Amino acid sequence: MIPIIKPFLGQDEADAAAEAVLSGWVAQGPRVRLFEQAMADYVGAASGIAVSSATTGLHLALIGCGVGRGDDVVVPSLSFIATANAVQYCGARPVFADVDPVTQNVTAATVSAAITPATRAVMLVHQVGMPADIDAIANVCRQQGLGLIEDAACAAGSTYKGRPIGAHSAFAVFSFHPRKVLTTGEGGMLMCRDEGADKRLRTLRQHAMSLDDVARHSAKEFVFEGYPELGYNYRMTDIQAAVGLVQLRKLPAMVDRRRELAEKYRVALADLEDIRLPVDPRWGTTNFQSYAIKLLAGGRARRNAVLQALTDLGIGAKRGIMAAHLEGAYRNRSDIRTAEGLLPETVRWSDESFVLPLYHTMTAAEHDEVVSKTREVLAKTRAD
Ligand SMILES: *Cc1c(COP(=O)(O)O)cnc(C)c1O
Repeated sequence: MIPIIKPFLGQDEADAAAEAVLSGWVAQGPRVRLFEQAMADYVGAASGIAVSSATTGLHLALIGCGVGRGDDVVVPSLSFIATANAVQYCGARPVFADVDPVTQNVTAATVSAAITPATRAVMLVHQVGMPADIDAIANVCRQQGLGLIEDAACAAGSTYKGRPIGAHSAFAVFSFHPRKVLTTGEGGMLMCRDEGADKRLRTLRQHAMSLDDVARHSAKEFVFEGYPELGYNYRMTDIQAAVGLVQLRKLPAMVDRRRELAEKYRVALADLEDIRLPVDPRWGTTNFQSYAIKLLAGGRARRNAVLQALTDLGIGAKRGIMAAHLEGAYRNRSDIRTAEGLLPETVRWSDESFVLPLYHTMTAAEHDEVVSKTREVLAKTRAD
């Protein structure tokens, strides 16, 4: 079976994790600080807040935007369900926006259509690493006085207007889950531009404790910490951060390799007229966290047949991105609203797209096999 993804982890990450374990400091500590600074340097931000996952980072970012009970937050339905769930953690309500038929991202127009009088913030997603048009959406937010958060869970190493994603908005959140490009097992990072918000969210990550562990352990005199508001335990461990520091050094090479393999797919499949292949938008570059192909003919039934046939042939293909508004947690709820009724482009993407294997150590033979079997299966399902 050719898998959909394989994390690119090796002896260097294992050594770094062992070094952290043997140091005796395994919870959030000096390596987390170093990883935060390294990630901030990489994206061109002042600092980063390492967290236990992108989901918890999104929760903190929403708090940073002042989102709470009674507020609406515009999010795409076409996303991993954590995007919408984070809104509900704040007692707020997601309002689902549709996406673009080419990029699978929200746009200024789809976001505008989802804004209600109760809207407080917009959460855009750089879906599967494909950069959304941040500036166009930021314009809408500025005009309407709304906060903007980038769910950059998939987008470490993607760029927007010549700079890495992560420092364009007040808040951007990365995931380091193994399904993403850079991994620490579990983990995430919140990039927060405003110094005051950074300071507050950094403490909320740690039970809202007024002193962090490094400060407490290095204090010469006895110090008491305080807990001035409701906080959370959203910390990353030093073991994860040690792995993250190694992975971050490998990130440019990992992105280059993904882009090289994706370009080979594009060349090998370019003549097929009934599929849409992913390409960079004019404002940026994707890290190809996933290589998502959209069927332009045949609909959901054909997509499902393609997935089954590829699986039968030993190719680990997966469906494209889910539509959160159709899941049990959101569907049939009278309080949940979607812009433009049924979100036609969202449903099309989630019913009619699939993802091909793409990983750093993929061999030429494996790549050729995926191409030939994909061509075979598309031809067969075209005739059916
Ligand atoms: C993976 C993903 C998340 C959740 O990331 P975790 O680190 O697993 O919490 C959120 N949003 C998007 C768009 C994702 O792809």
